[in-house]
Amino acid sequence: MGTVDEVLAGYGSLQAGQEAFYKDLHEHPELSHQEHRTAQQVAGKLRDYGFTVEEHIGGTGVVGTLANGRGPAVLLRCELDALPVKEDTGAPYASTATTRDADGHLVPVDHACGHDLHMSCLLGTAKLLADQPGQWSGTLLALFQPGEETGDGAQAMVDDGLAKRIPAPDVALAQHLLPGIAGTVATCPGPFMTAEDSIKVTVYGKGGHGAMPQHTIDPVVLAAMIVVRLQTVVSRVVAPADTAVLTVGSIQAGTVSNLIPDHATLQLNLRSYAEPVRQRMLDAVHRIVRAECAASGSPRDPDFDELASFPVMTNDPATTDRVASAFSAQFGDNALAIEPQTVSEDFPNIPNALGIPYSYWSIGFTDRKVYRSAEKEGKLQDLPTNHSPKFLPPMQPCLRTGTEALVTAALAWLARH
Ligand code: ZN
Ligand code: ZN
Repeated sequence: MGTVDEVLAGYGSLQAGQEAFYKDLHEHPELSHQEHRTAQQVAGKLRDYGFTVEEHIGGTGVVGTLANGRGPAVLLRCELDALPVKEDTGAPYASTATTRDADGHLVPVDHACGHDLHMSCLLGTAKLLADQPGQWSGTLLALFQPGEETGDGAQAMVDDGLAKRIPAPDVALAQHLLPGIAGTVATCPGPFMTAEDSIKVTVYGKGGHGAMPQHTIDPVVLAAMIVVRLQTVVSRVVAPADTAVLTVGSIQAGTVSNLIPDHATLQLNLRSYAEPVRQRMLDAVHRIVRAECAASGSPRDPDFDELASFPVMTNDPATTDRVASAFSAQFGDNALAIEPQTVSEDFPNIPNALGIPYSYWSIGFTDRKVYRSAEKEGKLQDLPTNHSPKFLPPMQPCLRTGTEALVTAALAWLARH
């Protein structure tokens, strides 16, 4: 038996406990930066497995370290947080939880992105490797970050002295449930996820009577001009070969028809696969908004508030190659390639700050039969995606696959030779 199989031989005896832990996490989801119970549970498990545990990094962040002789240090990362979504899956362990969000509103909470499954897989991996110290050598770091959905949790850990509080890792690895067949894993060398910036723009006019526009500066017209002109960023500013998206997802001004308001707000979402493209788009957005304000005679400079910012994710090719070869050997036909995605992740902020390479792969979450029949009918786009109220990965094979993928990838560095 190879090293990976030796370690995975222990899976049968941990499966029931892992499934129970997963169901418990699923029933007790917590919003970004409120993951206190979750962090406590995770830290407790790591301690039980013999890890040294560092808690409260960047709020609720947890890192468990298991030093097992000489060799590389591998960091495996997952997320603690859930989403303000009302679960509608009908599962016996479906979440009925509600909580107050950051603005004090009562909202439903659901692990609609699968972070509960990621955590369960990482803890399973921690347990399997802790139980088989003779099979590997080096240091294993299991990192659980807060606030992935808000895009600021990884950076919060970095800013809270992460680098000084853990042994220096040589490589960082992470995975995410993404659309695809349950039981499959998929890698992508190079650019994999877009940089994302969410920006709130407030522009100012001069309010007054709707019948006397000559006495006003109309921010509604100003905002409308901005929306139109922003359409030229992707079509005229970004090179045709570069991928970029600019969406104005919200525009708000005024309350009634006969009153010209004094300001308007727009919410913009920008995505791109390269830092220079991102910078060019941001520059263009600022230029266009300011110029349109000047054109309208706006009495005040516009305000730009960054709502969220995710870095571009570029998988290190050599690291990804190593993971992909290990996956081919372990998963055979279930090891796939995946195209770059237009979603975003803040994971790169951790390896970027630590100055180490990283690779991030996907694990499928749709039952094979369901996926195949949707594919046949051309209805793949109708399947529930992450963040949907209907999102629910089948516990198996997903728990097993996610654990197997982490064990396989970690041992590509840590296995004794
Ligand atoms: Zn998500
Ligand atoms: Zn997620």
